[in-house]
Amino acid sequence: MQFATRAIHAGQEADPSTGATITPIVQTSTYTQQGLGDNKGYEYSRTGNPTRTALEACLASLENARYGLAFASGMAASTAVMSTLRPGDHVVSGDDLYGGSYRLFERVLRPMGVTFDYVTAGDVSAYAKAIRPETKMIWLETPTNPLLNLVDIAAVAAVARERGVTLVVDNTFASPYLQQPLDLGADVVVHSTTKYLNGHSDVIGGAVLTSNDELYQAYKFYQNAAGGVPSPMDSWLVLRGVKTLAVRMRQHCENARRVAEFLEGHPRVQGVYYPGLASHPDHALAQRQMRDFGGMVSFAFEGTRDDVDSFVRRLRVFALAESLGGVESLCCHPASMTHGSIPQAEREKRGVTDTLLRLSVGIEDADDLIADLRQALDGVAATHATANSATNGAHASSGANGANGTHGKATKVKSGAKSAARA
Ligand code: PLP
Repeated sequence: MQFATRAIHAGQEADPSTGATITPIVQTSTYTQQGLGDNKGYEYSRTGNPTRTALEACLASLENARYGLAFASGMAASTAVMSTLRPGDHVVSGDDLYGGSYRLFERVLRPMGVTFDYVTAGDVSAYAKAIRPETKMIWLETPTNPLLNLVDIAAVAAVARERGVTLVVDNTFASPYLQQPLDLGADVVVHSTTKYLNGHSDVIGGAVLTSNDELYQAYKFYQNAAGGVPSPMDSWLVLRGVKTLAVRMRQHCENARRVAEFLEGHPRVQGVYYPGLASHPDHALAQRQMRDFGGMVSFAFEGTRDDVDSFVRRLRVFALAESLGGVESLCCHPASMTHGSIPQAEREKRGVTDTLLRLSVGIEDADDLIADLRQALDGVAATHATANSATNGAHASSGANGANGTHGKATKVKSGAKSAARA
C-alpha cells in the first residue's frame, strides 16, 4: 500500500470487540485478567495500551520500520535511544541540531560520562574523522534546525556501517512523508510527534522507529522501565493527525516554497534558508533525498535584534511561538527560544544569530501568509524611515549622536545603547 493509505489504515483494523471503525481511546490503566498469566495481551498501560499499539504500528509502517515505540515527548524518545549508552561511550553529532537535544547531550548525558563531538552537519568526511574506538553512535538531523542544511543520510550511513556505529536520524523536520532514513541506511529514526505527525499543535509526543531487533528490545525495555509513555488520549490524537499527513505535507511544501520565494526578493531580508530554492547549497541533495522540500523556512533579517522584535510584534497571521509542524503558521526566534539553551558564543559560531528567524509555514492560504510577512517587514522599514528622518533632523539641528546620517549606523547605535543598558 502507498504512503497516504498506510497513514490512514496501518495498525487500525476495526475494533474486534465492537466493530468501531476508528481506533478507540482505551482510557484504562489496567486490564482484567482471566487467570494467572492468562490475559488478552495487555496487563498495565505503562507496558502496553491498545491505542498506543495502533499508533506504534502506524508510525512503524510510515517509516518502513519493523518496530515502533511511542513516547510522551520527542525528548523522551531521544532519551530512550540514548539509554543504550554507557559511561565512556562517545557520540558524534551534527552541529546544527535542536537545542533541547544539545541540552540533553551536554547537561544530562555528559555528566554521566558519555562524551560528544559536534561536526559540521553536512560534512560527511567529518563524521568519519570524528569516530574513535569508543564511538557508539552518530546522531543527525536533516534538514537541520534551524539553518535547514542537509546531511546526506546514505553517505553517513555508509560510514556508520563500515565503522560499526549506530546511525540515529531525528526525522522530525522532514516527516516520513518527505524522507525515510531507514531506507537510506539509518538504524534508528526519532520523531517529535508533537510536530508534523500530529500536525495540530495540541499534543506533546515522541516516537522511535527501527528494524533492529536488539535495539528495539533495549528501547522497549527502557520504555516500560523508565515509563515516559504517552496517554491513550494523546496517542489517539497523533493517530488521527497522521491520517492527513500526506495532504498536509503537500500544502506545507507548496506554501513554504511561495513564502521562501517572496522572502528572497524582499530588501529587508539578508538571506533565506530553504532547500527548495535553487540558490540553496544543498538543493541538489534535497532533490535526491527528499520527496519535496518541507514546510520550514528560516531567514536572516536585515537589521538589529530590536528590528526583529518590531517585526514579530507586527505579525497578525503568524504566531510568535516555539514548535513547528502544525496547520497554523508560526514564527520562532531560535536564539531566544528553541536554541536559547545553547551558549551564545557556541550558538553564533553555528550561525544561529540574533537576527535569524524560523518560520513553520502552515497550510493557511499562501496569499494571506505572504501579505502578513510583507506588512510586517514593510512596517519595520517604515518605522526606520521615520526614525531616520527624526535622527537626521536632530543631527542637523543639535549635532547629537555624531555622524549617524546613514540608516545602518543609526540602527547600530540604537541596538548598542540597548545592550549596554542590559549589561
Ligand atoms: N527534535 C526536533 C528536531 C525538535 O524540533 C524537537 C522540538 O522542538 C524535539 C526533537 C523535541 O521534541 P518534544 O518537544 O516533543 O520533546
